[in-house]
Amino acid sequence: MIHEILPVGPLQCNCSIIGDEASHEAMVIDPGDDIEDVLALLSKHNLHVKHIVITHAHIDHVGGAMKLRAATGAPILLNQNDYSLLKMLDMQAAWIGVPPPGKVEIDHSLATGETVTAGSHTATVLHTPGHTEGSICLYFQAEKKLIAGDTLFAGSIGRTDLPGGSTQKILRSLHETVLALPDETVVVPGHGPLTTIGNERESNPFLVKR
Ligand SMILES: [Zn+2]
Repeated sequence: MIHEILPVGPLQCNCSIIGDEASHEAMVIDPGDDIEDVLALLSKHNLHVKHIVITHAHIDHVGGAMKLRAATGAPILLNQNDYSLLKMLDMQAAWIGVPPPGKVEIDHSLATGETVTAGSHTATVLHTPGHTEGSICLYFQAEKKLIAGDTLFAGSIGRTDLPGGSTQKILRSLHETVLALPDETVVVPGHGPLTTIGNERESNPFLVKR
């Protein structure tokens, strides 16, 4: 599996490019910004984008999606519970001081249990509300990898004080869905360094049972 992780934009959102060496199919997850850099990596590996997957509708994760769709023709996928946040992108842009990205169109709503593929690599969608109502994680079971969006970070969890956030829901998502995965699963958070489920189960102060 080709897996490039590229921190994009002023908030350094971890954009993932996941590609299959044999078929050259790829998916891009959270193209928040810096689409020229994303396109350069895609052409370096000779990859064709099949899906643009958004873990949640915060501007630092979705801001470059329309530009990437225009360049590749790939559909944009997001859970429908975040559609209302998409209507607030101008406000979100003002919060972090970046130009508004314009209207983002979603081609398909991703529901829990659905799969998204890039050649031989398959991700299962896990709906993990809490950071936002429509937050999802992408679980690559065969590759033992989780793209966690802003639900789980190394040593921390997603903030829940923004519109649509819920501390109760994120803790339920983490305990019932995310921590149900095997310890050896590598976690790629929406920001910052990689970790594993086992590490976080053992040492994450928000998850350790007191
Ligand atoms: Zn976020």
